[in-house]
Amino acid sequence: MNTHEQDHGSHVHGTDLRGVGEFWGDESASVREALAWAVARMARESDPRTTARSASDLATDAGPTVVPAGIGSGEALRIFSDVLEPATRAQGHELNLAYIPAAPNRSAVAFDAVTGSANIFGGVWEAGAGGIHAENEVLAWLAGLLRWPDTAAGCFVSGGTTGNLSALVAARKRALRRRGARPAEGWTLVCTGGAHSSIISAAEVLDVAIAEVPVDSRGHMTGAALREVLERTPSAFAVVTSSGTTNTGIIDDLADVADACADHDVWMHVDGAYGGAALLAPSVRARFDGIERADSFIVDPHKWLFAPYDCCALLYRDAADARDAHSQHASYLDSIDREQPNPSDLALHLSRRVRGLPLWYGLATHGTDRYVEAIEKTLQTARDVATGIERIEHLGLLMTPELSVVMFDRPGWSEADYTRWCERLAHEGALLCVPTRWAGRTVLRVVFVNPDTSADVVLRILEETTR
Ligand SMILES: *Cc1c(COP(=O)(O)O)cnc(C)c1O
Repeated sequence: MNTHEQDHGSHVHGTDLRGVGEFWGDESASVREALAWAVARMARESDPRTTARSASDLATDAGPTVVPAGIGSGEALRIFSDVLEPATRAQGHELNLAYIPAAPNRSAVAFDAVTGSANIFGGVWEAGAGGIHAENEVLAWLAGLLRWPDTAAGCFVSGGTTGNLSALVAARKRALRRRGARPAEGWTLVCTGGAHSSIISAAEVLDVAIAEVPVDSRGHMTGAALREVLERTPSAFAVVTSSGTTNTGIIDDLADVADACADHDVWMHVDGAYGGAALLAPSVRARFDGIERADSFIVDPHKWLFAPYDCCALLYRDAADARDAHSQHASYLDSIDREQPNPSDLALHLSRRVRGLPLWYGLATHGTDRYVEAIEKTLQTARDVATGIERIEHLGLLMTPELSVVMFDRPGWSEADYTRWCERLAHEGALLCVPTRWAGRTVLRVVFVNPDTSADVVLRILEETTR
């Protein structure tokens, strides 16, 4: 590096990084370049083209980068910029409607960089009080939307999978405390076939059986069906109910489910990883009635609350059971003040970044009203696309959306036709959508989480490309 670059590199917005930690030397250039790249990336759009490449192609184009002498920050950033980042999918693009995408606002994305720069240990209050305080204000706002009492508390974990598992660990602990012993046949988790794959995973980790509740014709768990299962399953310790299934975006009959859970003294967990965000929306809030009696709840802000990966808000109506289940104890942890709201006491984690802060900053920047509008806007987009599909002769709407998942088919198409269509649009960068299965057959599904998505644009693409 020449002297000129060195001089220039010593200043990040006027800040001299020389002498901040001697061992690594002057890192001004690498810091400046990385942050400049981040700012430029946030200002850039990308198309929703399918971008994955084989590991061997990436290895050829990137070359070895983790080597004894290093390759230098400039070269590392060049490879990231030219080879690696382009081989990732644009999750936030308004025409990415595949799986459940993510459409964070730029304020939230930017604050992820800020959060990283502060390198806060967010596991215990003593180390991360200021950051945890801000996270807790967001969690309290969510608890308010759930209409939960002041005993509610929670923390942010990496994703719905960890959130669901952590809630179920607390549920089992409470069942053990209340009943005094594990049932001879082991514990049983109750859910429907519409429960997310992470619930099956959690049951395996917990080594518990699953009792499946048959759903109604539209896929909901109803109170009556749940009661039948609970009556013949005394080993049930928790019911996992959905406020927005991943495949169809439907909400179980939460009030009836809550009644059944109360009558059988079983923990009620609401998996709102995707759909929980719609608690904000007055137009659908009534569908969530009964959620105020749930014992635990999750929502992934990295899905429909405009925050970047990775972020799941996990809440307990009464955090005492969670503390009982999750607090880690050891001689080297004795000095932790357990009277404080330590996130590490509430989930399956100890070290953690303060990953709720990007959401906090987005909310603080735009205000909760704006978030309400953003959710309502995406709900309306889903409704408009559903209505539009009904009008397109060669397409069939399969159900009226309850939230922002729209399921439809193209009568006459085979499974291979669906796959070919999705792949063609992905390779052209026109729109991202993946087929799914519903009622035993292959169908199409689009998910709306981005307030910038235009129903007209989506409908035009759907109509023209499926003829
Ligand atoms: C996405 C999803 C999950 C899993 O969340 P991750 O953040 O991907 O781990 C769980 N439940 C539902 C309903 C989901 O949609």
